[in-house]
Amino acid sequence: MRRWSWPAARCSSALLTYAFPLAAFLLLLAITTVLLRGPLDRNREAFGCLVGGILVSILGDLAFDLVLLETGERTASWTDAVYMLSYLLLIASAELYWRRPQPRGWTAADQEPRPQVLSPLPYLAAGAVFWLLVANGVHPWSDPVSGLVVGATVVTLVMVIRQVVAVRQNVRLLEENAAREGEARFRSLVQNSSDVIILVDAEARITFVSPSASRVLRYDPAGMVDSSLFTLIEPDDRPRAEAFFREATLSRGVSAPAEWRFQQPDGAPLHAEVIATNLLADPIVSGIVLNTRDISERKRFEQQLLHQAFHDPLTGLANRALFRDRVDHALKLAKRQRHTITVLFLDLDDFKKVNDSFGHGEGDKLLVLAAERFRSCARAADTVARLGGDEFAILIEDSTGPEEQQALIERLTSSMAQPFMLSGNEVFVTASVGIAAAVAGETVSEVLRNADTAMYAAKRAGKGRFEAYASQMSSDVRHRLELERALRRALEKGELVLHYQPIVSLASGVMTGVEALVRWEHPQFGHLLPQHFIPLAEETGLITRVGSWVLHEACRQVGRWRREYPALRLTVAVNLSGRELHENNIVDDVRVALEETRIDPDALVLEITESVLMQETPTVLERLRQLKALGVQLAIDDFGTGYSSLSYLQRFPIDILKIARPFIDEVGSGPEKSALARAIIGLGETLKLRTIAEGIENQAQVTALLELGCNMGQGYHFSTALTATQLENALAARGFPSPPTLMVI
Ligand code: C2E
Ligand code: MG
Ligand code: MG
Repeated sequence: MRRWSWPAARCSSALLTYAFPLAAFLLLLAITTVLLRGPLDRNREAFGCLVGGILVSILGDLAFDLVLLETGERTASWTDAVYMLSYLLLIASAELYWRRPQPRGWTAADQEPRPQVLSPLPYLAAGAVFWLLVANGVHPWSDPVSGLVVGATVVTLVMVIRQVVAVRQNVRLLEENAAREGEARFRSLVQNSSDVIILVDAEARITFVSPSASRVLRYDPAGMVDSSLFTLIEPDDRPRAEAFFREATLSRGVSAPAEWRFQQPDGAPLHAEVIATNLLADPIVSGIVLNTRDISERKRFEQQLLHQAFHDPLTGLANRALFRDRVDHALKLAKRQRHTITVLFLDLDDFKKVNDSFGHGEGDKLLVLAAERFRSCARAADTVARLGGDEFAILIEDSTGPEEQQALIERLTSSMAQPFMLSGNEVFVTASVGIAAAVAGETVSEVLRNADTAMYAAKRAGKGRFEAYASQMSSDVRHRLELERALRRALEKGELVLHYQPIVSLASGVMTGVEALVRWEHPQFGHLLPQHFIPLAEETGLITRVGSWVLHEACRQVGRWRREYPALRLTVAVNLSGRELHENNIVDDVRVALEETRIDPDALVLEITESVLMQETPTVLERLRQLKALGVQLAIDDFGTGYSSLSYLQRFPIDILKIARPFIDEVGSGPEKSALARAIIGLGETLKLRTIAEGIENQAQVTALLELGCNMGQGYHFSTALTATQLENALAARGFPSPPTLMVI
């Protein structure tokens, strides 16, 4: 038991005694401030117990001190029970924190404004001080210290509570402010996003739509709320969208992008890419966020690319890839349903001439016009394709039989019989058509190859006709393919050789020139004449390479002979095929050959058959003028065998007429049989052209021709075509092997 002496000892003892509850208040303030600076973790009960425990402990201290002041001694009294209560509250607080840790986060309730019930506290404190003063004035205290202590304690308590409340409010305000700023930022992002943000609940009901929905989806965003997401989606895409949504609700986080078509108010589809973010567990969002982007532009571009990949850009028809795919599909279907399919291959005849004569622009126009005609002839179910160049194809599916096929052929025939208008001219263009019906078990490649083979057969049979595939056509084609390969090789391996047939003066028998005639020394088939490979070379385009080689070789050879036998002033005649004349580079090729071999241009004669000149196109005329401008001589070969319109003889810059062998055969068998040869020679004289008789086989013909006024000729009577060495030997010996009448100066 303690005894205190008044006033000094008692006063210091009282101050020390009251220092305990005061310290406890300060502790309470500190703890509360620390707790309030961090969030409460929504564990209010635990926090309440903690604060309550400390408060009860302060009350215990105060009660203990009052008892001590009154009685002057420490007794084990009811104040111990107060302390016990305070400890129980502290233990309960710890227990609550331990058992129920709460997740951090804000709820809507947290953000609601609360009435500030404790705001009159400062006034209460001031009131308490005045109340003490008044109380002391009315009933002056016997022990002023105890009254002052009680007053100071009450004021401090009120101030502490006020401070606690102020700190809490401060913290709340700061947090609310931060939350508001964040929310404003996100709202602005959502409002101004070009993507549409759709928030749906777990049942796919729309709870929020960003304003961009009015621009992208053309719906009023407010009107979309509460409707089901799936009602906005194209019916065909709904099952996919539902599956995607189910998946999104089950998995957490962000989904992979999916593509659906939304149905706009006017029914037009809108391609969109959707990414779902599952925020069902997020208390603020509690839904699935669908980030929706308009991808119509990308889709259009993709579709354009797809169309380009499977269509011919010029005519808009299916291309080879799509055609093959359709045939493949049709073959499979035909196998199951046991019907036949038919493929037609159509190739425009002499398309190259149209290109060369009218230019590529008109050539393209012809392709477009032909494509339109083919399309209009075919049925809607048939596939019309352009396979490349001037090659088209038609697939007839579900063929109803030969009648339907025949009807199509008739439609195509009458359609192609109409002229095409090109550069203001009416141009008639034919097509060679190959027809192949698929036999069971055939592959796409086989069917297409058969149709192609039949088309080539139609071309060879005279163009502008239809040919149905027959199995022996394939072996012809194989043979031709082999020959083509071999001819390419022949050029590389030097298997082509030139023979030279002398052209002589009929009166003197003197050789004035030679005609270069190509031969192929085939390693397997031996000595091949031009008729066995020149038509193939013309068909495949190899004639350009063959012709170029002949031209250079003939020029080189005549150059040599001119240097060795300058007095003869030999000329060399080179045959040009029609196709060569249509090639762009023929003029350059002749110029180069002349320059390289340094021969006089008049040493070269270019022979062009009459039938080529008959296709009187601006290109042919222009080419002939350019060739003539180089200084070379031009001859019409086999004159009289074409369907001559004599008017062209005046227009074309021709120097020589070579009278075809059939007319010469007749010469020497009597005057009436020579009538045609006489007419041709007379024509030559009128037009100031030299005439050369071809295929002279006897002296009677020579005599008759001289009488008719033809001075030059060639034929077996003088010499067959000789190799360069044979001809050189003859020149060296100043004579020809047979007949001995021939002379060389
Ligand atoms: P062509 O230009 O009319 O050549 C004359 C053809 O008649 C040659 O046949 C020649 O051997 C033949 N011949 C000459 N004299 C007589 C005769 O007295 N009696 C008979 N029965 N025939 C005679 P070849 O060499 O078979 O040439 C045939 C055709 O091939 C040539 O007719 C020519 O159009 C073409 N040709 C030949 N070489 C070439 C060439 O290098 N390029 C081109 N594009 N065509 C060529
Ligand atoms: Mg000739
Ligand atoms: Mg001839």
